[in-house]
Amino acid sequence: MTVQHEAGVQGEALEVWIDQDLCTGDGICAQYAPEVFELDIDGLAYVKSPEDELLQAPGATTPVPLTLLTDVVDSVKECPGECIHVRRVSDSVEVYGPGAE
Ligand code: SF4
Repeated sequence: MTVQHEAGVQGEALEVWIDQDLCTGDGICAQYAPEVFELDIDGLAYVKSPEDELLQAPGATTPVPLTLLTDVVDSVKECPGECIHVRRVSDSVEVYGPGAE
């Protein structure tokens, strides 16, 4: 079941992480995809686990559900800090974000 929930580009599983060092704390990502992103009391955005747990370890990733891919990609595009990174799980290549080709 897990794979079906994490399909992304061409059906490949994707994951997302935030570089908090660059986060401006404006909250755009949490508005676009509140199921995936949330602002903590420190004013910075973090990704959440599928169980809705805030993941505060540096570089922590969470799966991108297919149903939320558009919202997550919009967050990447609108993020003023350019600090949201979406990558393939299989080879960690960034497919959306400042490091994408
Ligand atoms: S959109 Fe980017 S800069 Fe704004 S809160 Fe989210 S991660 Fe931080």
